Amino acid sequence: MIFPKVIRLRRRALVAVLVVMGGIFLAGVAALLHTPAAVSSSASGGEAPVELPILMYHHVLKYGQQLGAYTITPTEFEKDLQYIQSHGYTTIDTDDLIGYVYHGKSLPEKPIMITFDDGYYSNYFYAYPLLKKYNMKAVISIIGKYTDLYSERGDLHVNYSHLNWDQLLSMENTGTADIQNHTYDLHTTDQGRKGCKKNWGEGAEEYKAMLRADVGKLSDRIREMLGKEATFFAYPFGFYCEETDEVLKEMGFLGTFSSEEGINYLTREPDQLFHLKRNNRPHDLTSEDFFEKVEKHRKKDSKSA
Ligand SMILES: [Zn+2]
Repeated sequence: MIFPKVIRLRRRALVAVLVVMGGIFLAGVAALLHTPAAVSSSASGGEAPVELPILMYHHVLKYGQQLGAYTITPTEFEKDLQYIQSHGYTTIDTDDLIGYVYHGKSLPEKPIMITFDDGYYSNYFYAYPLLKKYNMKAVISIIGKYTDLYSERGDLHVNYSHLNWDQLLSMENTGTADIQNHTYDLHTTDQGRKGCKKNWGEGAEEYKAMLRADVGKLSDRIREMLGKEATFFAYPFGFYCEETDEVLKEMGFLGTFSSEEGINYLTREPDQLFHLKRNNRPHDLTSEDFFEKVEKHRKKDSKSA
């Protein structure tokens, strides 16, 4: 999953080497490669980078066998929101990030982002009332095929249903949810493709056309049903390849969510909105322990800086 980034860095390093042609500089380049984003970016012109932890949620259920790595209880979710509130964080959405990077706006002092992937009906049933109760917002990246399917079926079962367009619209309209793109029908690993990644031996142009069509189909549906432009994309299962971002950028996406854990250090550099790190919140962990785990990334980053 990290290959494309490594390749890009290597290429950049190579160019630097060619320009300076000196042994001393080689050491400098090597050092740069090991410097975290927090210190290596100077795009903000001296302004300190903004630390942004992003939390990743999927399903919310009261009980059952599904509780685990990707399904937590409503109580656990509420405890997280209480933690966020009592520790002075302000939840932000993708518009806030775009405002910060592209329009010179500032972010709240301690920003944090809540994200939900896959668009389960449980997000509306359990998470939405809690988000409203604490006056917080979340980014929900939906799978188009399932939202269309459950909108058609009218099947509302908290265990397995996905969000329908009416629910998405009402959550968007209150400003609580920011709906984004998690592919129309590429959220699989058992149909010969790993998420939205290029297949072995598949031509680049063939792949790009396939991705453009699928992601475009959901963006069209979001535009039609919610009257908004999807600007962020969450890679299904965190899989991507070198051409993925090329297509997304060409389509007008301004950022992506990865499944790599860590904290983001943002300057006003547009490229930093791609591959934003997120921290998965599993069941059976107290909010204190979960946030401590997130916090550890920050400590590690500052130590290596
Ligand atoms: Zn997913």
